[in-house]
Amino acid sequence: MNTRIISILDQRQVVGATVPALLETPTGMLADSLARPLHDLRISVTDRCNFRCVYCMPKEVFDKNYSFLPHASLLSFEEIARLASLFVAHGVEKIRLTGGEPLLRKHLERLIAMLRELRTPDGRELDLTLTTNGALLAQKAQALKDAGLNRVTVSLDALDDANFKRMNDVDFAVAQVLRGIEAAHQVGLGPIKINMVVKKGLNDHEVLSMARHFKDTPYILRFIEYMDVGSSNGWRMDEVVPSAEVIRRINAVLPLQPVDANYAGETAQRWRYVDGSGEIGVISSVTRAFCGDCSRARLSTEGKIYTCLFGTDGHDLRALLRDARSDAEISSAIALLWRQRGDRYSELRSAAKPTSSTQRKVEMSYIGG
Ligand code: SAM
Ligand code: SF4
Ligand code: SF4
Repeated sequence: MNTRIISILDQRQVVGATVPALLETPTGMLADSLARPLHDLRISVTDRCNFRCVYCMPKEVFDKNYSFLPHASLLSFEEIARLASLFVAHGVEKIRLTGGEPLLRKHLERLIAMLRELRTPDGRELDLTLTTNGALLAQKAQALKDAGLNRVTVSLDALDDANFKRMNDVDFAVAQVLRGIEAAHQVGLGPIKINMVVKKGLNDHEVLSMARHFKDTPYILRFIEYMDVGSSNGWRMDEVVPSAEVIRRINAVLPLQPVDANYAGETAQRWRYVDGSGEIGVISSVTRAFCGDCSRARLSTEGKIYTCLFGTDGHDLRALLRDARSDAEISSAIALLWRQRGDRYSELRSAAKPTSSTQRKVEMSYIGG
């Protein structure tokens, strides 16, 4: 059995003095080795996608010979909900469903309804959200809302139809994504954020037209620096457009002023239009690392937990679930993992100033961003 985590657990069980203490208090708030709490859980519900975004699932790698996970490997909704409840007992208040493309997972509304039932230790509902490419949003928005989803984030990298099709590489029209965003707004899945990954030479010429399009609308546009996630997108530093440059270009035409963060640890830096017509955000994972506030754990489609987006190995919680371990044992394993977490990949990358990325890392489409 694949079992990095089981061995951790068993080791502790052998070391009798440690385990009883953990098992007696398997729940409760956690802090990692850098004093960061566990607050956010991102759950990938599928590794498949109906797009082949060139910076995420390039066609040459994710072709018909690519081995996606077989259905039996995927966590069931019951398994996901059980793990989520243990994470919530440890302080998680926000859950984001992602993928691959999460709306491809059949009956996703059933999972959302199950997660909606969860409560924080002091009885509050969770903030339940989802990141999607928007392709299926128009048809699914109402069902998602009815199941209890709070809001959605929609990825949209271009407005120019030819450019959008070049980027998603499956000839998908931008108009259908815009219809999805509108449908999500109509059913109340807001506030809706629109994420644009900016890659030099590919879509950075659309920064201003995107800003103009979403200015004075209920939607919050966020520009994301192209990151060195995974090993298949051939990332190069000279293809990153620094957020400072994005702000400079917009500010030159549509004056901006900075806004305070909504809460400590917010990944986006906020800016508002001086004329009062809305706000935008920039996520500067490459040029301004925010590891110091990173309180996110990521659960892969097959039940591995990653304590950093740039992880190379996950810890196999599915093995524990399918080995009939108790809630207390799995909860202890989660606590153990979080307490020993010391990840700060982006900070270290900033210090090293790489021009390309050679380290083997987990793919974005597998772990979900
Ligand atoms: N398929 C859904 C979507 O595209 O919204 C959810 C999964 S996708 C992996 C999550 C987010 O990661 C998307 O907003 C996508 O643009 C972003 N992303 C993927 N690869 C990236 C990269 N190399 N750098 C920055 N963001 C990336
Ligand atoms: Fe699919 Fe999202 Fe990756 Fe694009 S970014 S290929 S939509 S998983
Ligand atoms: Fe969090 Fe890892 Fe990203 Fe740093 S590099 S912000 S620790 S996910």
